[in-house]
Amino acid sequence: MQKYLNVSVIWILMAPVKITNLVKVYALLLLKKRPMHGYEIIKELEAYMLRAISAAHVYPFLRMLQKSKLISLKESGKREKKQYELTKAGNQFAQELIDKFAELVELSITHNIKTCAHCHCKIIEGWHKEKMKGKVLIFCCSRCADAFKKS
Ligand SMILES: [Zn+2]
Repeated sequence: MQKYLNVSVIWILMAPVKITNLVKVYALLLLKKRPMHGYEIIKELEAYMLRAISAAHVYPFLRMLQKSKLISLKESGKREKKQYELTKAGNQFAQELIDKFAELVELSITHNIKTCAHCHCKIIEGWHKEKMKGKVLIFCCSRCADAFKKS
């Protein structure tokens, strides 16, 4: 399991565009939903992250995405400003990023779940460890451990 966890981390670190913080992840997820103006992205990011987001953090990232051909500018009417839109490659990149993050979250959760050796219930924390016949067994509680000992 640790091996797969590392593969996901390496994928994120080696991605064609460096995803080094959550603002970038959210920006990509937003663009995955629909094309957006730069100021819309910032507004939505602020709503998500509950803090002020500097344009100086967002626009260089958008420029980098554009240079990597992951987003393109879409003209939308004469008077309106241009919208950023994920390209086919950008969409694939965003989807991979979502998948990798989902994997990481799932792994980090399932990695820590134990099963009671007696009643087989799932234990997230506060399990009871006991050594029996040279083996360390995990139980949800000492009562399960006692019951297991007697059986
Ligand atoms: Zn139990």
